[in-house]
Amino acid sequence: MSIASPGWGRRGTAAATIAARLTFDNLARSFDGKGALRGVSLDIEPAETVCLLGPSGCGKTTLLRIAAGIERPDSGRVLFNHQEVVGPDVFTPPEKRGVGLMFQDFALFPHLTILQNVMFGLKNFEAKDATRVALATLDRVGLAQYAEDFPHILSGGQQQRVALARAIAPRPSIIFMDEPFSGLDPRLRDRIREETLAILREMRATSVIVTHQAEEAMRMGDRIAVMREGKIVQVGTSEEIYNHPNSLFVARICAEMNEIPCLVKNGEVETVFGRFPATGLEDGTEAVFGARFLGLSVSKEGPGVLGRVIDRKFLGGSALLEIVVNGLDFPLQIRLRENAAPNVGDEVYVFVDTDMPLVLAKDD
Ligand code: ATP
Repeated sequence: MSIASPGWGRRGTAAATIAARLTFDNLARSFDGKGALRGVSLDIEPAETVCLLGPSGCGKTTLLRIAAGIERPDSGRVLFNHQEVVGPDVFTPPEKRGVGLMFQDFALFPHLTILQNVMFGLKNFEAKDATRVALATLDRVGLAQYAEDFPHILSGGQQQRVALARAIAPRPSIIFMDEPFSGLDPRLRDRIREETLAILREMRATSVIVTHQAEEAMRMGDRIAVMREGKIVQVGTSEEIYNHPNSLFVARICAEMNEIPCLVKNGEVETVFGRFPATGLEDGTEAVFGARFLGLSVSKEGPGVLGRVIDRKFLGGSALLEIVVNGLDFPLQIRLRENAAPNVGDEVYVFVDTDMPLVLAKDD
């Protein structure tokens, strides 16, 4: 499946592979009678980046391990370009799938040089070609000058880039990454993430990236597949998932929010902020009005609901406020630009500052 040609793009650019379509068809897997995957189907376009987003234990890693061939499903199929690599009568071993892997615990080999680490994935190449491709890949991730050094002299971010170089050097058409940036400090993580994304796009690799951070998924994914208890519960672009979550679960995963309980009546809910349409919910449904920390704002004069600031946390560029308002028995949390945030004790009017108010069925 991988395009194992030793050629590499112009200096500083990763040459493109031929992108592959990846299909999960009704995959199921149980451990000790408990369903880790409970019927997962998803079609991933050639060269698309899909992020699997979900809380710990929802089955993200199991899905990736099955796709890579490290784990077998109990039932269901995995197809690369419409061809089964896993099915009732088919199991293509990992090394024959031609996929790139970058797992959280995919440590570099300490006794091999950085160049040898990258060459590790190029066993099918002639030695001369393997060296050339590994060097070109190290150059692409900005580490060619360390080729003859050993991994321990590199920082965490640099080691991560070597791991990336090792995964992409054979130019796999499909890449699986499991929380690849979780070991990095936040600022470094942002940079490595952007670089990685740029490389994946240059290569036109079809990529599946596991994360439990919504922001990371939104930054990286062409689409996001949200998982819950072994199932995909929503698939869509960042905007679709963020603005139109199909459940309270998905809304919660996307962003912090205040949850105001309400009841659907005549196709609407009534809240302290007024009435909002309850699209798709039947009358009598117990619902939640989801007011995101960034979806509320304050003014001195109104309109809005009168409240009083009881807490203010400085968070660098922004401030997190707690405001008690008339008609609610818990404080609202609101995130505002630091220099626009009122002080503890101030009286302010709180209003809904979004075109996309969220009204979703209560979640048990
Ligand atoms: P995390 O974000 O914590 O890595 P995840 O979403 O990747 O979680 P999985 O690692 O796929 O979740 O695990 C899904 C479920 O399957 C969990 O309940 C986990 O305990 C269980 N599980 C996974 N692998 C095994 C195994 N080899 N043996 C027993 N149970 C397992």
